[in-house]
Amino acid sequence: MSKYVPKLSDLKKEFDEKPSVLKGNYSVQEWWDIPVEFRDGNWCFPGKPEVLEDLGFANPRKWAATDENWQLPAGWQKTISDGLQSRLKKYRSLKLFLDSCVRCGACADKCHFFLGTGDPKNMPVVRAELLRSVYRHDFPLVEKILKGFSGSRKLTEAVIKEWHMYFHQCTECRRCSVFCPFGIDTAEITMMVRELLNLIGVNNNWILAPVSNCNRTGNHLGIEPHTFVQNINSLVEDIEDLTGVAVEPTFNRKGAEVLFITPSGDVFGDPGVYTMMGYLLLFHHIGLDYTISTYASEGGNFGMFTSNDMMKKLNAKMYHEAKRLGVKWILGGECGHMWRVVHQYMNTMNGPADFLEVPVSPITGTRFSNAAATKMVHIAEFTADLIHHKKLKLDPKRNDHLRTTFHDSCNVARGMGMFEEPRYVLRNVCNTFHEMPEDTIREKTFCCGSGSGLNAEENMEIRMRGGFPRANAVKHVKDGHKVDSLVTICAIDRASLPPLMNYWNPGVSVYGLHELVGNALIMQGEKKRTEDLRENAMAGFGDGGDDEE
Ligand code: SF4
Ligand code: SF4
Repeated sequence: MSKYVPKLSDLKKEFDEKPSVLKGNYSVQEWWDIPVEFRDGNWCFPGKPEVLEDLGFANPRKWAATDENWQLPAGWQKTISDGLQSRLKKYRSLKLFLDSCVRCGACADKCHFFLGTGDPKNMPVVRAELLRSVYRHDFPLVEKILKGFSGSRKLTEAVIKEWHMYFHQCTECRRCSVFCPFGIDTAEITMMVRELLNLIGVNNNWILAPVSNCNRTGNHLGIEPHTFVQNINSLVEDIEDLTGVAVEPTFNRKGAEVLFITPSGDVFGDPGVYTMMGYLLLFHHIGLDYTISTYASEGGNFGMFTSNDMMKKLNAKMYHEAKRLGVKWILGGECGHMWRVVHQYMNTMNGPADFLEVPVSPITGTRFSNAAATKMVHIAEFTADLIHHKKLKLDPKRNDHLRTTFHDSCNVARGMGMFEEPRYVLRNVCNTFHEMPEDTIREKTFCCGSGSGLNAEENMEIRMRGGFPRANAVKHVKDGHKVDSLVTICAIDRASLPPLMNYWNPGVSVYGLHELVGNALIMQGEKKRTEDLRENAMAGFGDGGDDEE
C-alpha cells in the first residue's frame, strides 16, 4: 500500500482518541479560525511549470502546498475578484447557489469527505461558505445591513490555501445537491473555484498533465496514434488467444456508421483493458459498422476539473472527429465525467451537433431520442437495448465465478439519471448480483473518493478516507452475501476502486460492465471457453465440468 496512507489500526486509534464532529465534539473556534494543515497524504502535487507553459496557463513555477510562500502573482487578489465578478455575470447558477443557501444543514453529513475525515470544512454547506464569505465581502451593502454578522471576510493568502485544500477535497460528485431543498449544487461551486485558482497558478499536476496531454495528442496519457493502435491490436491478439475469434476494429475509417469513443484508461490501464476487450467482442458479435479515432482517443475530459473553456475545447474534439469521419452518430464507452459533460453541458457549450443524425441502433432499429441533441449513445443503454431485443447470445453461467454488486458512478447516475440500464445488462450476463444498501446507490450513490482528477498517489490518505462510505457499503454485501466483485461503468472508478478495496475490503475485485458482457457472449466460431477475459478459470467450465458441451 502507498506510503501516503496510514495503517487501518492508526486510523481507528485516531477516531477513538481524537475529538471529532462525527462523535458530537464541536470546536470552540469559528471554522475560519482553524488553519489548514497540508501534510503527507492530503494534498496533490502542483502543476509542473512545463505543463502550465504548454497550456499557456498562469504563473508557472516550482512550488508545493507545504511551502510558506506560494509565489502568487502580483495583483492576484484583483485577478480573483475580477474573475469572480465576470463569472457571476456569466453563470446565473453560480449567483443563485451563492445567494440561496439558508444554512438548513440538510447537506452537512451527506459528503463522503466529511464522513471520512470529520472535518467541518468538508461539510458541503461550509465548503461553499469558503467562497460565499469572500463573495459577501465584495457586496458591502449586505455587510452594512447585517453589521458584521454577514459572515464576510477578506480574500487573503490563507483563504487561497483553504480553497486549494477543500475544493480539492470535493470530487464534484453532487451527492449533497440531492439532499438540498433548493438544489444547490456545490459541485458547480467547486468547478468555479478551481477555475479561479487556475487564474493565479494554484492547481494540481494530476489534473493538468492529462489536460495538457489530451490537448496535444488527444488522450490523457499523451499516447501517439501509432501506439494507440498497437495497444488495441495487442488486445485483439489476446481476444483471439482466449476465444479463437479474430475481431477486426478499424481506425479513422471515413464513412463508418458509428464512431466509438471510450476513456483511454480502457485502452491502456488494468483493469480497463478487459472492458475494452468486452466492447470489441460485442461489436464483432453484432457486426457493428464502427470505427475508432486515434485523434479523439479519449472520452474523459479533465477540462471539467480545470475550467469551462478547457472542458469545451476537449469535448469539441470528439465532435470534430465525428464530422471529419462522416459518421452518423457517436457511441460512448463506460466513463463518468465524459457523460456529465456530454449530457449536461455539451448542447449549450458546443452544440447542437446538427451535422450528425439522431442515433438509431442498426441492429434493433431503436431510435435513441434521448440523444437527439448530443447524438451520442451510452454503451450501457445500447447493450441493454440489444439484450431487450434478444440480439445477443449470452451465457450468464460464464460469470458464475463472480458474486457481483454494482457501484453507480456519480456522473452517470446523478449527471444523467442512468440507473436501470447497467443493472439490466448485469442481471442478464451474470447470475449472482446483490444491491448495496438503498441509501448508497442510484441517485444517492457514494463517490469512489477519487473523482474529479483526485486519483493521484500523493493524496492517498484523503482518497481512502473519502472512499470509506462506498467501501463500507461494499463491506455490507461482502459480509452478507459473499460479494467479491464490484462492477462499475466509469474508468476513474476502475482505476480508483481497486486500491480502495485493497485498503478496506481485501478480496473484492473491480470489473467494468462490458468485461462481464465479454465473458458471457457466445461468439460464433469460438473455441471452448474455460477462462474469463482475465484468464481466470470460469466456474464449471474446466475439463470435465458440468457445462462443457
Ligand atoms: S459535490 Fe460531492 S464531494 Fe463535493 S461537497 Fe458535495 S458531496 Fe461533497
Ligand atoms: S442543504 Fe442546501 S440550503 Fe441547506 S445548508 Fe446545504 S446547501 Fe444550504
